[in-house]
Amino acid sequence: MRSSALGIICHGGSGVIKDRQAAAQGLAQALEQGYRLLRQSARALDAVVAAVKVMEDNPIFNCGTGSNLTLDGKAEMDAAVMTQKGRFGGVCCITDVRNPILVARKVMTETDHLLMCGEGATDFARKMGFEKHDVTTERAQKRLERLRQEGNSPYFPGLEKMMKLGTVGAVAIDKHSQLAVATSSGGITGRLPGRVGDTAVIGAGTYAGPSGAVSCTGHGEPIMRMMLGKDAVDRMKTLPGSIAVTLALSEARRQKALCGMVGFDARGGICFGHTTPDMSYGYMVGDRLFLFTEDKKK
Ligand code: ASP
Repeated sequence: MRSSALGIICHGGSGVIKDRQAAAQGLAQALEQGYRLLRQSARALDAVVAAVKVMEDNPIFNCGTGSNLTLDGKAEMDAAVMTQKGRFGGVCCITDVRNPILVARKVMTETDHLLMCGEGATDFARKMGFEKHDVTTERAQKRLERLRQEGNSPYFPGLEKMMKLGTVGAVAIDKHSQLAVATSSGGITGRLPGRVGDTAVIGAGTYAGPSGAVSCTGHGEPIMRMMLGKDAVDRMKTLPGSIAVTLALSEARRQKALCGMVGFDARGGICFGHTTPDMSYGYMVGDRLFLFTEDKKK
């Protein structure tokens, strides 16, 4: 499919979706916010950051408020932004901030660095004026508790159990045909403290280049190993985005990687797919909103 002008696509994570209606509603809010900005001539970067911020503030998503907790009960979050021109900013294992995506953007605009982690990232957020904010929810605590009670390996809990509703991401194309991507994640429940997922690793969970941009979700370790985001965007040099994503995900499936992604190619071709049983996603193009729930009914 091809959009002639503006567009935004968001995902709310791949895996098993427990509450499809809540996910659809949350995605619609994020998409409408991002698209409204695009209609007001905002840049793709502004649109994706705004859309992701909406999802970070919605506790049903695994990012910002509602983030999954580490084995020791902390919300360590990863987030990143990237533009088609190669500008990138990311934070990983950041704690006690309401919107990691806004901090990631500050890393891009206010520093010469690409990626900041842990205490350094949290200190940087404070210096940039982001107040201390506890993102822990009862629901996330219960998820961790259940995992502990089930007695799974503390170092690698069963994938099916931890892949519930995941990371969020947004990719947009603005009126100047510029692309940008933003991804934000609360990681995987019960992971070791200090574990870094794919989200803020350039070329893995978040990637944009001259040929396209994608945001990934799923099991971070294989996504990083495969450099899934870069693989998909590289394929867009010669192929439409939808085919590029299908091929990148075929390789992921072959490697038994549980994942999904959404994006646009440089011509505005929209793309999405997943190797997991499900993925929540939606997009707005030509003033029309499309949600994954409608897809299932077709
Ligand atoms: N990709 C995230 C991670 O591995 C998790 C997710 O997408 O649900 O940290």
